[in-house]
Amino acid sequence: MTKHEILLAQRECLFPSVFHYYRDPLVLTRAKNQFVWDADGDQYLDFFGGIVTVSVGHCNDRVNRAVHEQLDKLQHVSTLFATEPQAELARKVSEIAPVRGWKSFFTCSGTEANETAILAARCYTGSTEIVALRHAYHGRSSLGMALTGQEPWKLGPPQPGVVFAHNAYCYRCPFGLQYPSCEIRCAQDVRELIRTTTTGRIAGMIAEPIQGVGGFITPPKEYFPIVAAIVREHGGVFISDEVQTGWGRTGNKWWGIQQWGVLPDILTSAKGMANGLPIGLTAARPEVADGIKKLTISTFGGGPVPSAAAKAVIDLIEEDHLAANAAEIGAYLRQNLDDLMQKHPLIGDVRGMGLMQALELVQDRQSKAPAVEETARLMEAARENRILIGKGGLHGNVIRISPPLNVTRADVDEFIRALDRSFAKICPHCRGRAPA
Ligand code: PMP
Repeated sequence: MTKHEILLAQRECLFPSVFHYYRDPLVLTRAKNQFVWDADGDQYLDFFGGIVTVSVGHCNDRVNRAVHEQLDKLQHVSTLFATEPQAELARKVSEIAPVRGWKSFFTCSGTEANETAILAARCYTGSTEIVALRHAYHGRSSLGMALTGQEPWKLGPPQPGVVFAHNAYCYRCPFGLQYPSCEIRCAQDVRELIRTTTTGRIAGMIAEPIQGVGGFITPPKEYFPIVAAIVREHGGVFISDEVQTGWGRTGNKWWGIQQWGVLPDILTSAKGMANGLPIGLTAARPEVADGIKKLTISTFGGGPVPSAAAKAVIDLIEEDHLAANAAEIGAYLRQNLDDLMQKHPLIGDVRGMGLMQALELVQDRQSKAPAVEETARLMEAARENRILIGKGGLHGNVIRISPPLNVTRADVDEFIRALDRSFAKICPHCRGRAPA
């Protein structure tokens, strides 16, 4: 198909809800490692990694070898039969889980992983009430949207039994306070929320350690220990949605929640786990996993091919020390982003951890009015400068940066130069380089 034919078919035959970045949709035809190429043959440095998913580089040789081998050996039999790839993956997850010995249930997406986690929490506790966070994103099923705390992503009706706590959005504190003199009021408020809007006995709380779609909102170090204790006081389990923060992305640790020193009862993941093959993981401590007593099945879940891919990804992250690389290169990226903030007044906040960093763009730093138009223009300018970045936040004014975990300082240098030129292009008053 020509580029024109691809775009025509997209427009005529796909739901219009399949939206694109960019005024002229970008048609991608191939990719390798940190680069992708469009239909015109132009090369881009991918610092969004297919929405925080290409964890070890596009079309990674080792992962793809494992996929090809598995595809030719045993492709699908369903979980009604035991297979080595699923067993091997479950064994590996059990080894690297927050506590050794956790059990896994595999599905095909983050949405399903969270559905399974909520099911497990409800079966285990006998309660149906769930605390979620404002600005959260947990998926696109009815329950996923009901747990999501951002109006643009909530298409269905609310569901009974889900209540929303204030999130730890320090840049725009929901209580108008300042960290640390706030004494983490948002965390303390979870007790008030449970006591005033639930029966007082909850199934649990679901939270992303760093809110991904919400714009990489990163709570202070005290937040999760306080919140997890309050949840347990009320009989609930703590579910860490690690769809974006898992697999070393936040630096040095397998799981994002470990950065806060909190032990969850259940964790979910997807995205980067199989480097782009569809997979969902719900891992839980054994007593919680054992709580699901009735029949439940995912036809494709735990399939041999995605399982083989995930095992290869995890092995690679381990052997190539990519969680350490995420910490080291992430710190270098962060320092460069902090420097960009000195130059470009549009940048109101820099936040994140490891190779998960964001810039929140504001019209001016005093009012913090979201720079929505400017963010859209920056996306276009970044495309012209041949870098891919992501967008997020309730208002769509946050730039999300999440390259593969194996990028280098040289990649960061190239990225920052292109991002700097992109800011300079849209903001002539910035002290940046001359527009490209
Ligand atoms: N949880 C989080 C934190 C996510 O970022 C996403 C996807 N953006 C999901 C759940 C849902 O995952 P999926 O799109 O694979 O269903």
